[in-house]
Amino acid sequence: MAEPRRLLHWLRAREPALTRLLGRLVRIESSSYDRAGVNRLAALLAAEWRKRGARVERLRPAGSPSRGHLLRCELPAAPGALPGQILVLGHMDTVYERGTLARMPFRVARGRAFGPGTLDMKAGLVIALAALDALRAAGLAPRRRVIFLWSSDEEIGSESARPAIEREARRSAAVLVLEPGTGPRGKLKTARKGVGGFALEVTGRAAHAGVNPQDGVNAVHELALQIARLARFGDPRRGITVNADVVEGGTRTNVIAARARAEVDVRCVRAADMPRIAACFRALRPILPGAKLRVTGGMNRPPMERRIAARLFAHAQTLGRKLGLRLEESSTGGGSDGNLTAALGVPTLDGLGAAGAGAHTPGEHIRTRSLPERAALLAALLLTL
Ligand SMILES: [Zn+2]
Repeated sequence: MAEPRRLLHWLRAREPALTRLLGRLVRIESSSYDRAGVNRLAALLAAEWRKRGARVERLRPAGSPSRGHLLRCELPAAPGALPGQILVLGHMDTVYERGTLARMPFRVARGRAFGPGTLDMKAGLVIALAALDALRAAGLAPRRRVIFLWSSDEEIGSESARPAIEREARRSAAVLVLEPGTGPRGKLKTARKGVGGFALEVTGRAAHAGVNPQDGVNAVHELALQIARLARFGDPRRGITVNADVVEGGTRTNVIAARARAEVDVRCVRAADMPRIAACFRALRPILPGAKLRVTGGMNRPPMERRIAARLFAHAQTLGRKLGLRLEESSTGGGSDGNLTAALGVPTLDGLGAAGAGAHTPGEHIRTRSLPERAALLAALLLTL
């Protein structure tokens, strides 16, 4: 098939225009908590997709009115297309609060485009539009109906997008996720750890640390003992990590702490380990006499196990060779919406977005040449899946 090469050639000539489009998206700040910002980005994207003949719907976030809209863009099946659909996933929200752009403006230098959310993952939104443009310019159409679903709270757990993502995934032959690839060459992601979050709240009893310490129950001490206990739930060799990432408690020295709280991050490679770890947390009981303990939270995103992605990855690699691109795979401890779709058993390939570095940091950037490359890969996938 000579088509992938032709698509890539066409796209490479448009790298400056794709980079400019990325700049427009990055200049609309869209923190997960900034409903107005996310909705402004959704409006711009909706217009771009409508221009290209997609059927666009803005979906209300499920259960959380404080989040921005989701965007569902449907490319109807061409005549003679296969039944079913392909789901392409991405998110419009970023981890950067409004105002970050002033310190971290969008700029392009030496083949890199810098700015908040460039890599994670506004470049992915550009890649999807570019893939569609390339197909249309070549007079080609995807093999099935394609649904592009852009969520608005991926960076804070996808609570409001999850029902829509799962509903579309269940109807799909494959899910392609436009999260960034790993490392400077943008390795595809074929496995992701499952992610959970637990909060421990300890209630003790305040007392004067000098006058009547015997009347106090030290919530900070209780929490420290609990953390020592839960740290042992981890098993790095099995791919299980447990980390208390936030602790707070007490009021001031000289007062025995009446309150303390910890937030704990849990990751695991195997889905089968999730219920066991959750049970360990639920089984925690107070250690110091008189202390009260409340445990909340649970496992949020199940792991994306490699076997779910294996065949799709092999297929992408074959297409990559036709494009002259060497595609490698990677696994990561970070979660994405791909975790949700893989858990349903739907073949899911992640990391199809841009290559770059520094996601979630002041140096976040993409390599601009990955925009046409990844758009050509996505177009080739849509032609063949
Ligand atoms: Zn992301």
